[in-house]
Amino acid sequence: MKVKKQLLGMEPYQPGKPIEEVKKELGLSEVHKLASNENPFGASPKVFEAVKQGASQPQIYPDGYAAEVRDAVADHLGVKGSQLLFGAGSDEVILMLCRAMLSPETNTVMATPSFSQYKHNAFIEGAEIREVPLKNGVHDLDSMAEQIDDNTRIVWVCNPNNPSGTYTTKADFETFLKKIPDDVLVVSDEAYVEYVTAEDYPDTISYLDEYPNLLVLRTFSKAYGLAAFRIGYGVGSEELISILDPVRPPFNTSTIAHSAAMAALEDQEYIERCRRENKKGLSKFAAFCEEQGLSYLPSQTNFMLIETGIPGNAMFQSLLKKGFIVRSGEALGFPQAIRVTVGTERQNELFLEALKESLQEQRQSIGK
Ligand SMILES: *Cc1c(COP(=O)(O)O)cnc(C)c1O
Repeated sequence: MKVKKQLLGMEPYQPGKPIEEVKKELGLSEVHKLASNENPFGASPKVFEAVKQGASQPQIYPDGYAAEVRDAVADHLGVKGSQLLFGAGSDEVILMLCRAMLSPETNTVMATPSFSQYKHNAFIEGAEIREVPLKNGVHDLDSMAEQIDDNTRIVWVCNPNNPSGTYTTKADFETFLKKIPDDVLVVSDEAYVEYVTAEDYPDTISYLDEYPNLLVLRTFSKAYGLAAFRIGYGVGSEELISILDPVRPPFNTSTIAHSAAMAALEDQEYIERCRRENKKGLSKFAAFCEEQGLSYLPSQTNFMLIETGIPGNAMFQSLLKKGFIVRSGEALGFPQAIRVTVGTERQNELFLEALKESLQEQRQSIGK
């Protein structure tokens, strides 16, 4: 068979290890998954009743246009419904953008390390990938802008950035937007926006009228706690969205996802509580790092990248044996770090104890 040549030798996405698998493999009774930045408190209690409703007619195709949740999200953001493009997670919106805009004659600009799916999808489309290293842990927007030429179609800004947890300020983002040619799409991926507390984080939705080449990505998978149901969206100009919409598979978001998303969106008090708890957890992590002399990147997300000074895979294995699934930094571009999701108060306490033990063990075994 003659598939696209770039597919040969490509690896599928490596997800965080599932809890049940780890329990079985290691004979552990309690395992905590702090690997995929899921909400440790789950979804709002209001979601569960709504999901039952959404599941009552499995034989009927979902509303592909997602009209009800579209109205709810439009209302929440203060935009028109026609400015939204829904996907099975924002991952699918990334896929649709690449499908619509990238080809072997084009290029796309992104930071590195950043979220893997920009590169993954651009690679499948055969586009040239221009990666610009983070500078002092944040997007180097000046260098990214310099990479743009006539063949550039999409520039990706992950804000806050996964896996570093750092963010681009309002001032820096505005300067950047002004510099970008108006036929180049700027994507602001805001998967963690609900966790942001920085005062100088940009309100990108307010730029959409002035910049029709801006697309904002949001998701229900992280703070809203709906990762299993697969729903996220892009917000852009009406014109851009109407051009992109034919790329969307006709029934890409499910009825259950629509019901869950509407109920979750309504419970903003819950989101606020999660944001507050998360911030407390981040402070605990930071205090631990300072006490242990570890460097870390200040995070505006629900995870933290911690430099342990030990190879990421070794720390991953060591923590796994103690019942904690984290992400090794080795596959994320930070070889001596781990990325860990902020958990519940109890999970955070247990995790920091385990991390302290693992650090001692690993340092002893390599004679540091
Ligand atoms: C988790 C994540 C997404 C995608 O999440 P979906 O579940 O596909 O909505 C997108 N961008 C970043 C930076 C993420 O961390």
